[in-house]
Amino acid sequence: MARRRQLYEGKAKILFEGPEPGTLVQYFKDDATAFNAQKKGIITGKGVLNNRISEYLMQRLSDIGIPTHFVRRLNMREQLIREVEIIPIEVVVRNVAAGSLSTRLGIPEGTRLPRSIIEYYYKNDQLGDPMVAEEHITAFGWAVPQDMDDIVALTLRINDFLCGLFLGVGIILVDFKVEFGRLWENDEMRIVLADEISPDNCRLWDAKTNEKLDKDRFRQDLGSVEEGYREVARRRGILPEGGPADIKGPKTLQ
Ligand code: 5GP
Repeated sequence: MARRRQLYEGKAKILFEGPEPGTLVQYFKDDATAFNAQKKGIITGKGVLNNRISEYLMQRLSDIGIPTHFVRRLNMREQLIREVEIIPIEVVVRNVAAGSLSTRLGIPEGTRLPRSIIEYYYKNDQLGDPMVAEEHITAFGWAVPQDMDDIVALTLRINDFLCGLFLGVGIILVDFKVEFGRLWENDEMRIVLADEISPDNCRLWDAKTNEKLDKDRFRQDLGSVEEGYREVARRRGILPEGGPADIKGPKTLQ
């Protein structure tokens, strides 16, 4: 059988042409990058876990009425998605100070923020994804004000829902990044959640110990990166379907 046509390769995912018009196949790699790709590595099994975690979170969000690009998971590393026109903005939501917020403003990591803060970054690797204001986004036509209203409303709902979903299993959602796309259906356009939601783009801390269970384990050389991702999946009852050839780790006896 002919291999599907590859359309795009990113740092952590590859997009292939889908089986039907308007669909794509999103393949999750084990590659990890940080600090605008200055740090690179492989986290064995990460792609399998992120495929499952993102599937689970997109489905739960869809259950509460958030439109997403997710159609269905195809196998251990691939999912079928709807083709959307990606809005070139990374939307970051913060509940607790960490990462670039702490560095930039000197707010100690772990400080609970008085309210959730939304920030925007222009998706441009050459420029290092600079932070932008809504003014830049609308002035340069990356999105129109109505798109931004939809994005803010969706983002706040996603944040509220995910905070509760993770807190229910003893995990604090410190911050996360989401991306949105435009989905066209019969001349009607809808803004939908796109990309992925996984420990690659969320900060997730154990609520009791503040242990980091996300990509900061890789960024900060804390070790046991895959174990952190696996712990997130385990607590939410999401487990890979078990292919010892595809994922390393302790094997559970049946
Ligand atoms: P920070 O601005 O503190 O570096 O990141 C805030 C949050 O957004 C973190 O959860 C981080 O994982 C996520 N994030 C920000 N930019 C990116 C990015 O380019 N790629 C990914 N995967 N996550 C990002």
